[in-house]
Amino acid sequence: MTDIKSMNLSELTAYLTDNGFERFRAKQVLSWIKQDVTDFDSMRNLPRKLRDFLKADAYLACADIVRLQRSKLDDTVKYLFRLFDGEYVEGVLMHYHHGRTMCISSQVGCKMGCTFCATGKSGFSRSLTASEMIAQIRCAELDCGERISNVVLMGMGEPFDNYDNVIRFLKLVTCEDSLHIGMRHITVSTCGIVPRMREFADLQLQCGLSVSLHAPNDEARSRTMPVNRRYPIRELMEASRYYVEKTNRRITFEYALIDGENDSDATARELAKLLKGLLCHVNLIPVNNVTGSGYKKSSIKRQQAFVNRLSDLGINATVRRTLGSDIDASCGQLKRNFMKGDV
Ligand code: SAH
Ligand code: SF4
Repeated sequence: MTDIKSMNLSELTAYLTDNGFERFRAKQVLSWIKQDVTDFDSMRNLPRKLRDFLKADAYLACADIVRLQRSKLDDTVKYLFRLFDGEYVEGVLMHYHHGRTMCISSQVGCKMGCTFCATGKSGFSRSLTASEMIAQIRCAELDCGERISNVVLMGMGEPFDNYDNVIRFLKLVTCEDSLHIGMRHITVSTCGIVPRMREFADLQLQCGLSVSLHAPNDEARSRTMPVNRRYPIRELMEASRYYVEKTNRRITFEYALIDGENDSDATARELAKLLKGLLCHVNLIPVNNVTGSGYKKSSIKRQQAFVNRLSDLGINATVRRTLGSDIDASCGQLKRNFMKGDV
């Protein structure tokens, strides 16, 4: 079946003309998609022959909200979406003073197996299409009744393990024909798939890049992030420098502070040395609770000491505010396996 919601105007035009329909039909179809129709029969200005063809050959991707949890601590909302084949992903809507930010999933589960992450522990089913990434944003917009201005690919999955669909998503969602979200308002987060980081840099998109670092040396990083055995820190840093050179953009490093694991003063010094001279920002995230991981977040005092140590050494760092912790909507808490009773 053809996923027409992942196509841009010229692809849709080619698809329709190849199958014997007029060029101008593509604009009509896109306009119905923009009006959120969920079936081809609702595309009333299309001739019956075209509607029948689309019904037989194509589908309209969806992300149906099957559960919604609202935080009592802040306004964060966690959605559970059902995809067309019965798979589930989670997405999180956050409210900031500058607008609404949607954190979307790029895969059902994740193959990367980071030890601190619930998604990594829950296995992997498949990657999402561009249309399924867009659908998460659009469904949340329709639910909250407001426009979503910012998007982060920090939900379930490793975006660069689904590279082509993620790039397609970025190009599509920024189009006027689609949700028209500014590229500068989108951030992709990766655990460090080095060859894809380089390809991404070459594209010179105006979108943000975050790299999940979490440790300043290979020994410690490989212990929590298996991907480090494949792409060690030296290669990761070279790719990060390449990104900054190519794009002239600041790169963000995410660093989950784990009590007794990576939060000592000595580790802060090692981290500062690693990042010295690179146009970057360090986002410190007190590690969120994940059942069975055995990790505890660093004390507030330790978090502050770590930031101060980095700042003293000339590294730009802040502690990220935790949102939606009462509904398990924080970083690393989204998961693939849902209990039957959950839905
Ligand atoms: N796969 C991508 C993006 C999704 S994870 C990546 O790993 O970058 C989004 C962020 O949450 C990453 O920085 C990830 O390392 C972090 N994270 C995962 N589990 C966490 C946890 N338990 N506490 C805090 N941050 C966590
Ligand atoms: Fe996958 Fe990112 Fe979780 Fe690691 S932190 S398991 S890469 S989703």
